[in-house]
Amino acid sequence: MARLQSRQISQLHQYQVLHMVRLATAPVSRAEIGESTGLSQPAVSALTRRLLDSGALKEAGARPSSGIGRRERELEIDPDFAWVMGVKLSMDHYTVTLTDFAGQVRHSHEVRWTSPMSHKALVREVTQAIQSCMKSDSGLARSRLAGVGVAVPGFVDSHQGEVLWSPVLQPGDGKPLALAEALTSRVGVEVFIENDANMLALADMWYGRSGRAANVALVTLEHGLGLGLVVNGELYRGHSGLAAELGHLQIEVDGRPCRCGKRGCLEAYVAHYAVVAAGQDAGLLPSEDDGGTTEQAYFELAQLAKKGNRQARAIFERQGRLLGQWIGNVVNLMSPQLVLLDGGPALASDLFAPSVKHAMEQAMAIPHRGKVPLIIDHQGDEVWARGAASLVLQRVDESTEIMASVSRHGVDTEAGGKRPEP
Ligand SMILES: [Zn+2]
Repeated sequence: MARLQSRQISQLHQYQVLHMVRLATAPVSRAEIGESTGLSQPAVSALTRRLLDSGALKEAGARPSSGIGRRERELEIDPDFAWVMGVKLSMDHYTVTLTDFAGQVRHSHEVRWTSPMSHKALVREVTQAIQSCMKSDSGLARSRLAGVGVAVPGFVDSHQGEVLWSPVLQPGDGKPLALAEALTSRVGVEVFIENDANMLALADMWYGRSGRAANVALVTLEHGLGLGLVVNGELYRGHSGLAAELGHLQIEVDGRPCRCGKRGCLEAYVAHYAVVAAGQDAGLLPSEDDGGTTEQAYFELAQLAKKGNRQARAIFERQGRLLGQWIGNVVNLMSPQLVLLDGGPALASDLFAPSVKHAMEQAMAIPHRGKVPLIIDHQGDEVWARGAASLVLQRVDESTEIMASVSRHGVDTEAGGKRPEP
């Protein structure tokens, strides 16, 4: 028991130090690490020595110390210590991104596919995606790959590594898909899975627009409607790992059928497929599948609205009102510093933005009004995949075992005369 506790404390301290150095905007001194983490200077010295020996940290430039004698060397993450891979699954394509240990994207590519597919087909396709990226990238020393993160739309139990429901999967027999385990055993590297909006929230917290704010709501509006919550600087997953699935908030009893199997979910009224269905019902878009994708049809409807079609404009305004009302209620629930809305093509978000902002203000409790900024933009899929990679970096930072394993491989690799090219 005492042994276990000591290992847990050691993992926690390792995470605290790496996390602090990782998120710093410049190299940091040992004194700064001590101040930020609350660890004693001897503890910081011992830990940073170990992380320097393993290769996870490196010494950056020197700066003059205030006294006579030693010059203090600042520390930073060594980008070449390990690589991680992120895969983001979407309805009609997936994106694969490789990042170095400092989280910088070294390689990224997109592949078209057709979903929904069977459980078996998904495991096969994602396995191939990971393996072909391992083989094709010249800079990737296989042994330096510390792990793979897969961002999955839908209900994902990240604790168990299971997909409970996803729009990229055909309705099966109701059994969850143990995706993390299936992929790990096939590719020979640890694979972690997580809901895609959570991954994006993590990428935003580390590298993005939230400016390291500790409490952020991130809304993703694309084919579906997603939500990721950062609470007190950490992703909020709840007891079951399924928290923040508020896109499936029921707004109408016995309402429109949603892809998740329920009726009346907000997603069934505001997601791209729902807006396209409204355009079809109004006779503005061909009702039969004309071979184009939902995203093309959504864009086409936005173009019609932009040209002044009143019916099309009304559809986007209603989408904005419903979305804004819901975002206002999310603010009432969690009181974030800001809300980020990854809103799909700018052409469409320009159309619904005024009604989102108005409805959000109306729905927020009066003390919140005018105080919670809403940022609407669209980031490419690479950012989502980078979020998936960030999850793996977080897991490496947290685990002395993975760290030791990468470090050992690193020595083997160097003995073989091969290091990843920068
Ligand atoms: Zn639903």
